[in-house]
Amino acid sequence: MSGPAEFRAEARAWLSTVADRKPEAAWGTGDDSVAVFENWTEEEEHEHTAQRQDWERTRFDAGWGALSRPVELGGRGLPAFYEHLYRTEEAEFDLPRRPEIFPVTQHLVAPAIELWGTEEQKNRWLRPMLRTDELACQLFSETEAGSDLAAVRTRAVRDGDRWILNGHKVWTSGATVSTWGVAVCRTDPDVPKHAGITVFLVRMDAPGVTVRPIRQMTGGSSFNEVYLDDVAVPDTDRLGPVGQGWKVTLSVLAAERLDSGSLGLDNADRAIDLARHRPVLTDAERQQTAELFVRTLVQRLIGLRVTAALAAGREPGAEASVGKLYATETMRRTSDLVLRLLGPKLVADTGEWGTFAWTEHLLGAPGYSIAGGSDEIQRTILAERVLGLPKEPSR
Ligand SMILES: Cc1cc2nc3c(=O)[nH]c(=O)nc-3n(C[C@H](O)[C@H](O)[C@H](O)COP(=O)(O)OP(=O)(O)OC[C@H]3O[C@@H](n4cnc5c(N)ncnc54)[C@H](O)[C@@H]3O)c2cc1C
Repeated sequence: MSGPAEFRAEARAWLSTVADRKPEAAWGTGDDSVAVFENWTEEEEHEHTAQRQDWERTRFDAGWGALSRPVELGGRGLPAFYEHLYRTEEAEFDLPRRPEIFPVTQHLVAPAIELWGTEEQKNRWLRPMLRTDELACQLFSETEAGSDLAAVRTRAVRDGDRWILNGHKVWTSGATVSTWGVAVCRTDPDVPKHAGITVFLVRMDAPGVTVRPIRQMTGGSSFNEVYLDDVAVPDTDRLGPVGQGWKVTLSVLAAERLDSGSLGLDNADRAIDLARHRPVLTDAERQQTAELFVRTLVQRLIGLRVTAALAAGREPGAEASVGKLYATETMRRTSDLVLRLLGPKLVADTGEWGTFAWTEHLLGAPGYSIAGGSDEIQRTILAERVLGLPKEPSR
């Protein structure tokens, strides 16, 4: 195994043979998008997804995908922090954007299959998902089951060697481009709610699955409603034991939190650059910029502690729990700084570079304080599991 420095040099050398370096754009030129959620039409979403899939296949086939996964799955069996080293190098190259459904498939769903899947399921699903030939979305939330996810009502009833699913899922990111949906279903309504849940992988093109995009306040539709009407799912597509679905779900949610730590850093850096390029800053603007700058350093240090824990073969603890909460606060502080710096320029699109484009950050950022467990829920997790405070009475 190459050491970290050698590995990074090898990654850089390989990337130079298949991609161009990002052009050095002077301030005030080039793409000024700071969108948190893409404002794509369904057609554009398919197009961008296909471009990224092409890239993911290129790197997987060359041995640079799934680095920390076993060799038999097309990986290299390297320590998890090599993924981070690779990503740092890849960030310097001009590559298709990586829509959210990619990390969902590769970092959330695939590890859950590795943990809970039968040998047959691992053989069938893991490689195509790591290579992103198949993408998988999370059919978790319902209108009455978000923070209290164990309240899901989507029913799965056994019918011989298959299950019949009926229900309504909501806020499903990437449903229109996914081949599979990981559905959290109620299989036993007569036991305490956490004990009556089972997880299934549902083909998104199965008869009875209807996807309806939801328009977000950013203008785009990155998430959807999904109706399941008498959808037949073979028992061989059940993930984990019957009634153990809550544990399966928790393993996906824990991975989601771990994957969220670097959220918002690019836009925070960009907002600090915005301040740097102002001819004059008031004391209040200077103070706010400095605070955001320090915050980005701390967020990066938290990320390094997660990487260090993984490198040492430990499960990240408090640093992973705090990471997502810290990241969403960085996004909020970025909005506050931009509001102060740009003020009325955010109200109307005058065509001026790097001004109105920030509305996409301001309108998108609040979504991450809700997605993957709201800030309030993250605080409860920190209080109960990290600080050891008494549990909330109602849960
Ligand atoms: C951009 C985006 C993408 C998403 N993608 C997906 C996806 O792909 N798949 C999927 O299944 N879901 C997805 N979701 C849904 C997301 O997981 C839920 O919105 C989230 O878990 C919150 O649930 P809820 O919307 O039902 O809000 P609720 O649970 O109704 O919460 C409403 C408010 O009450 C607060 N609250 C609730 N319970 C407590 C409590 N015990 N203590 C303190 N405060 C509390 C919450 O913090 C929140 O402020 C996405 C959401 C967003 C915004």
